[in-house]
Amino acid sequence: MDRTLATDLARLPELLEATRRTAADALEALDARPVVPPVTPVTPVTPPRDPEPLPEHAAGAESALTAFAERWAPRLSASAGPRYLGFVTGGATPAALAGDWLTAVHDQNSNSALDGSGQDLERETVSWLRDLFGLTDAHTGTFVSGATMSNTTGLAIAREWLGERLGVSPSEDGAAALGPVRVLSGAPHSSIAKALSVLGLGRSSLVPVPTLPGREAVDPAALDRALADTPGPAVVVANAGTVNTVDFDDLRAIAALRERHAFWLHTDAAFGAFAALSPDHAHLTDGLDASDSVCVDLHKWLNVPYDSAVQFTRRQDLQARVFQNAAAYLGPLGARPDLVHLTPENSHRLRALAAWFTLRAYGREGHREIVERDIACARALGAALEQDPAFRLLAPVRLNVVCFTLADDPTPARLAALREAAQEEVFVTPTVYAGTPGLRAAFSNWRTTQTDVRRAAQALRTAAKGTV
Ligand SMILES: *Cc1c(COP(=O)(O)O)cnc(C)c1O
Repeated sequence: MDRTLATDLARLPELLEATRRTAADALEALDARPVVPPVTPVTPVTPPRDPEPLPEHAAGAESALTAFAERWAPRLSASAGPRYLGFVTGGATPAALAGDWLTAVHDQNSNSALDGSGQDLERETVSWLRDLFGLTDAHTGTFVSGATMSNTTGLAIAREWLGERLGVSPSEDGAAALGPVRVLSGAPHSSIAKALSVLGLGRSSLVPVPTLPGREAVDPAALDRALADTPGPAVVVANAGTVNTVDFDDLRAIAALRERHAFWLHTDAAFGAFAALSPDHAHLTDGLDASDSVCVDLHKWLNVPYDSAVQFTRRQDLQARVFQNAAAYLGPLGARPDLVHLTPENSHRLRALAAWFTLRAYGREGHREIVERDIACARALGAALEQDPAFRLLAPVRLNVVCFTLADDPTPARLAALREAAQEEVFVTPTVYAGTPGLRAAFSNWRTTQTDVRRAAQALRTAAKGTV
């Protein structure tokens, strides 16, 4: 063994202690440090121009820790903190963080029954999540890296279902065996088109269906007509929580269309599924269980570290047909296929552990409190911006996102200037809603409080006065 490596092994408890101190300091600083560090030539956190050369000789973990703390940590954003409101970004609850650390400690490849406890832990976690979102045990679930991978996996199962209906096998003979495919959706997330590209169905298989007036929710009557115009079986992607205005398709109305039309119903509930935790909003997810496949992100509103999502489906048999990985040492599929046969990956990080920890630690009540507090924060920021003549809301605050713009001349350049002027205090991301450039503030971090809302509103007001 290399001498430095041997020394690190001998000093492992000390190294872990040093790492723990670094971690605690970083978390302690989250509230006070810039949400997104400034990028100017005069600050010490200017991005490094050139990558350093590969180290030739061992310097040990402590040296790497110091180099990271000096050179990289200050340049990272405070995305784990309470005022990073860009995209839809969760943090990591204390228990989730502990679970994630221990995931690396145990370093499991939990993909097969030959060494099966990791799979069992994942199955227990999936059953808790199912319960959390009001899904029945008709759905099985598998962990994947994010909602994009969950959508891709769900649509891969949809592709195999189309094959079953048409008497061909896309997994054996390729997607071309299906002929043209139509994937109907009102306001799908960008990852749906990406998934269709990956799956060989093509981005152009996505057929936009009109939404309700002034809404991002699909018009069920228009979907009914679009299905009637579709020759052969189709795929419908229902959206339970759009990223701009957190609008929800009427899942029950969509599912009812199956009485007249043959289609696979995939629901993208990446963060919208968490509405099920709030008694006042749970109705938005009514009918979710009727979906053939469901996508839920966990690194967003469950507040586990990146990367984590879950893919639910009622047709694990078709899932295994797509993803089965035949090898002499892996054995037959059986009635309960190993995880190696259920997702694009073969090796399978025990990423369920962080979710297991936070659910075990805080339960349904604890996570409901996070969801409801975030919703209240979004409402409060929406109200503050609405009262300010510099801003106007582009949509009502339906759940946890405020979609807003400048009252006067909201050009992308002016909005970018505003965003950048505010981003040491609050980070929001650009969008275009109904043709108007705007900004989004999404609340999904467990740390965020009304104090953060006041700081965010103040920063946006000051930025609007100073820069535009
Ligand atoms: C975030 C999101 C995705 C993509 O999620 P990743 O975790 O970034 O892959 C898909 N759909 C919706 C509705 C989302 O909010």
